Amino acid sequence: MNFTSPISTLNGVGSRREKVLNDQGISTLGDLLYYFPRRHLDRTTISPIRNFTKGDVVTLMGTVESFGEKSTRRGKIFQVIVSDGTGLLTLTWFNGVRYLKPLFKIGDKLAIHGKVDYYGGFTITHPEFDTLEKDDDPVSTGKVIPLYPLTQELKSDGIDQRILRNMVKDVLQSRLDIPEIFPHAILDSTNYITLSEALSKIHFSNGIGELTLAIQRLKFDEHFFLQLLMALRKRSLQHSGAVPLLDIGPYFKLISESLNFELTGAQKKVIKEIHDDLKNSTSMNRLLQGDVGSGKTIVSILVSALAVGNNVQVAIMAPTEILATQHFHSFKTELDKANIPCALLVGKMKKSERAPILEGIENGKIPVLIGTHALIQDDIIFNNLGLVIVDEQHRFGVNQRAKLLDKGNHPHFLAMTATPIPRTLSITYHGDMELSIIDEMPANRIPVVSKVVEPTRLPKVYQFMKEEVAVGRQCMIIYPLVEESEKSDLSAAVEAHQQLDEIIFPDISVGLIHGRMTSDEKDEIMARFSKNEISILVSTTVIEVGVDIPNATVMMIEHAERFGLTQLHQLRGRVGRGVEKSYCIMVKRDVTDPSRKRLSIMEKTNDGFIIADEDLKLRGPGEFFGLKQSGFFQFKIANMVTDGVIIRDARKVAFELIEQDPNLKKESNQVIREIFLRDYADRLENISLS
Ligand code: ADP
Ligand code: MG
Repeated sequence: MNFTSPISTLNGVGSRREKVLNDQGISTLGDLLYYFPRRHLDRTTISPIRNFTKGDVVTLMGTVESFGEKSTRRGKIFQVIVSDGTGLLTLTWFNGVRYLKPLFKIGDKLAIHGKVDYYGGFTITHPEFDTLEKDDDPVSTGKVIPLYPLTQELKSDGIDQRILRNMVKDVLQSRLDIPEIFPHAILDSTNYITLSEALSKIHFSNGIGELTLAIQRLKFDEHFFLQLLMALRKRSLQHSGAVPLLDIGPYFKLISESLNFELTGAQKKVIKEIHDDLKNSTSMNRLLQGDVGSGKTIVSILVSALAVGNNVQVAIMAPTEILATQHFHSFKTELDKANIPCALLVGKMKKSERAPILEGIENGKIPVLIGTHALIQDDIIFNNLGLVIVDEQHRFGVNQRAKLLDKGNHPHFLAMTATPIPRTLSITYHGDMELSIIDEMPANRIPVVSKVVEPTRLPKVYQFMKEEVAVGRQCMIIYPLVEESEKSDLSAAVEAHQQLDEIIFPDISVGLIHGRMTSDEKDEIMARFSKNEISILVSTTVIEVGVDIPNATVMMIEHAERFGLTQLHQLRGRVGRGVEKSYCIMVKRDVTDPSRKRLSIMEKTNDGFIIADEDLKLRGPGEFFGLKQSGFFQFKIANMVTDGVIIRDARKVAFELIEQDPNLKKESNQVIREIFLRDYADRLENISLS
């Protein structure tokens, strides 16, 4: 027997059971060892009922005292009462009575996991539970008991915890050879146990200490391969042959000295980090992260001026026309001071407008070009593109970025994002880039006052908006756009606009902007809003990124519960950009939504990095990036929120490995190569191992 022997080599696995197991992804003995317990019972993690307090998330062991269904006003419920010798606990289900009833017998021993509530006694609603063997006793034996995920399919074949455990035991006792992934030198230099030990101890261990070592090793493996992917991507993005931009040049100084504010320490720090990269003939590949309003734009303008001072061209690409247009105005204001020509290029431009820009780009007379993805069209030819800046780069595909970079001879690359990303996530998801973080706000900022309200408070909110408008300020009202029902949400915004305009604010000019408008229409509305011809702007989330209206002081977000915290924070960043005190009002519409606590984080802090951490904890990395479907973050055992130290270890090992063996050719790295090509190669995106 070995790691790749079919599961049917085990005693008791006939062809029917083999098929059921195969359907769960268990085809080989190795697969079975990688079928990790979803939870472990250990005496140090079992809580006695006596010690419960409401709100605790607990694991306990208890014996069934009684069970049965009960009629309530809300319909039939099913309840089981268990005792652990220190107290009684009620388990409650609001549905599934018929299927639950046969699962229990009086005297059964259960392992239970869930959140404790109190209704005249301790209760857990819809707990996770497993029926245990009589002799399963982690408390007196000190053993750790594995609890496996049991799907309906497994159960229907009669596979229960005991059978799975015995199958795993059989495999481990057969002393099959578990091939180690890492060369000895790597295992020796890190404190991770061997794979063979880990795959044994994850199932059966003599205590939480051993188990923890096993979990750490298996997490390490998963992080390692993602970091290996990042190391390879990074290597593929590094090109020698970039133009070194050595000088600060005359323009940088001219513009930086003309500013009516002092750059923050953080801005100076990132400019230095960027310039240190630009001096090299290896192309820069850097991500600039900074909260909304932290002053990334001026950093990108100064860096562009520096590049132009070294006689190369700069391209700046933004995801929307609104944002590109706004960047153009910001750049133009500053670049004019140094007489540096710049141009804007967006999708639907007239030929007669476009032609002279294309000409100026090709002959080099226009050194700075700003635009949307219109910049990557084939007929745009740069004379000497030396620096590419992409704003909100996660909104673009890898290919779009590559296409723009291809317009130069290995230009330097700077990505910018206003989404603060927790560090562990950043070094994984953006692990192929260097990171610069603006972690300091300009000193003159007044924090935005944030409040979550129920719809009953709306008359007061509207009254407040009227008062703000009366003294010349402006407001925004955001409606969510949900992709599946884009149309109905759009009509919600349209209807709301009509009602606000005609009934609630009859004497105030109320504008509407949404994604279905043409770019001309959108530009016109934004132009009127920035000239304060529109006092209240109703919008779907098109306004989300970057738009800068310093005079806007009230941001009201409808159906706030539908947004992620990071997104709410982005929206809030649209106000508080001027000298007046600003307000963010989040209207929670769905009373059944348990989001009050989540939303209250917005009331407590304005720090985007704290909010990002919370958002990551609450929603997980997939949702955080809107990547839930992509599989990028589908781990078996790794966890982006809690594995910080392991991620750093894995990164170090992976990057050193690629440094020494860029194509994974060494004999000692062959297992790594094999697993990588099997499980990760589809994510390489245009990179290959030779
Ligand atoms: P971001 O792009 O990071 O959201 P911006 O670059 O648009 O932020 O900056 C927001 C506002 O702050 C702009 O009006 C900008 O001129 C101003 N600003 C930038 N840096 C500073 C600073 N160091 N001190 C004061 N104001 C600043
Ligand atoms: Mg910006």
